[in-house]
Amino acid sequence: MQRSDFSSKLSDESGLTKFLSFLRASPGARAGLLLLAWLAVWFIGGLVEYAHHASVWFPPAGLTFAVLFVVGLRATPILMLAAILVTIFTNNDYQINLQNIEVIESGIFFGIAHIVPYYAGSALLRWLTQTKQLTLPLSIISFLLIAATSALLATALVLVSLIFTGMMSSQELSATWLPFWIGDMAGIMVLGPLFFSVIHILYPQKTFKILEHIEGQLPVATAQYKYKLMISFTLVAAAMLLAKFTQSMDSSFAIFFLVLPHMWIACTENAFYNILSLALSSFLIVFLVDVLGLMNFVMVYQYAINVVATNAMFAIAIPALTASNHQLKTKVFTDGLTQTASREYLFQQATVEIRRAQWKNNDLCMLVYDIDHFKQINDVHGHDVGDKALKALSERVKQFLRPADILGRFGGDEFIVLLPETNVDTAMVVANRLLKEINGLQLINSEQLSISIGITQMQHNDDFESLFKRADSALYQAKRAGRNSIFQH
Ligand code: GH3
Ligand code: MG
Repeated sequence: MQRSDFSSKLSDESGLTKFLSFLRASPGARAGLLLLAWLAVWFIGGLVEYAHHASVWFPPAGLTFAVLFVVGLRATPILMLAAILVTIFTNNDYQINLQNIEVIESGIFFGIAHIVPYYAGSALLRWLTQTKQLTLPLSIISFLLIAATSALLATALVLVSLIFTGMMSSQELSATWLPFWIGDMAGIMVLGPLFFSVIHILYPQKTFKILEHIEGQLPVATAQYKYKLMISFTLVAAAMLLAKFTQSMDSSFAIFFLVLPHMWIACTENAFYNILSLALSSFLIVFLVDVLGLMNFVMVYQYAINVVATNAMFAIAIPALTASNHQLKTKVFTDGLTQTASREYLFQQATVEIRRAQWKNNDLCMLVYDIDHFKQINDVHGHDVGDKALKALSERVKQFLRPADILGRFGGDEFIVLLPETNVDTAMVVANRLLKEINGLQLINSEQLSISIGITQMQHNDDFESLFKRADSALYQAKRAGRNSIFQH
């Protein structure tokens, strides 16, 4: 998969196509956009700053991780520049009043402490998913574990560098490290996958094995996606308003109901729309924490975002599994060459029909037909022509039968037709018409095909095997009688 589904959708719209082509062709513009995006998400993260230097939802960690995963070390100058710029802002904002050169030094230290763990984490994840080709569930668990450990490492390194450079006092450490860690981890777990998809649009030359796992999913959102999003957002708003008016910790836990619409989305939408909805819900939560003044409960919201996201991420595989399950079922239940029912499906369906007919005291007939001298047709015209004849014959028989009749390939050139609610006299009429129909066909070159048919009517103690045995022995008699004929048993 060269480009994500989102990218190909975007490409349909001409303005965006031009903008994307421009960005893809211009490394400078891409770098500028990346820098702006990093600074923008850094400011958004500041909305839920829990302690100085520690936001409980820190999107830049997700962006750094995703950029390093997709672009690699080439992206470090931009990330370093962003780290220095935010250190300058922080210095002014917290009124730390370091000298200019000291601020830049602190920025470089922060940059190194932030970039190194996320580069290590993203490189390890890339190695695992690209080289080791992990399955999707293993890739997801690796991603979550790597997100947690690289965020912890970044927390340790950044806090040490902040203390070392005088940006933070060591007394603040105990109140800072946990929200810092959780904030970075949430930034990667909840927003990393979305950033990954968006950056991949800007850097489409790289292909990722991990994307192959989600290929074959729905290419676009379903028509109900917007309603699912509306339900999620309404639930977030209602739960958070409840917490605001009751001011009780107990009611703040209502946010965990968010797992319901998100699991619904995860199980029914493709991976991109799944991770987009997670990013939107988490952004809304952060925004409302700020607007409604719910910082007292922010850790509850924080855990809720993480729990909902990790659940939904494991469900990424479900739409793909459902689609491939459907394909597999069709494969197992259909004979590949003739597109009639496979032997397994025929057996299943016939058993159901036989039981139903016995229960309701209805008639049921089985008709078995086999092509006459088919070996010879193969020998004279070749196997390919034989295959074509089998296909064309089956197509014709399918058109000839009623929708309720069941046609399946028993094997080779032998087929079974089950005629529900049909007695032997009617079955005989059907068989005669079928024989005529086939005789009138010119399936291969100028030669004509013929078939022989055996018929039997269901008795009360019949099962599939006994019914088939009788029909097959009738077919044998038809063959012995000179072929192109019908026998009844
Ligand atoms: P009979 O009139 O007694 O049925 O003679 P026959 O030559 O048709 O003999 P039989 O039904 O025993 O053999 C079936 C032949 O059908 C054997 C094999 O060459 C051919 N056959 C079976 N499956 C396929 C298939 O998938 N494609 C093709 N082209 N030929 C097949
Ligand atoms: Mg035959």
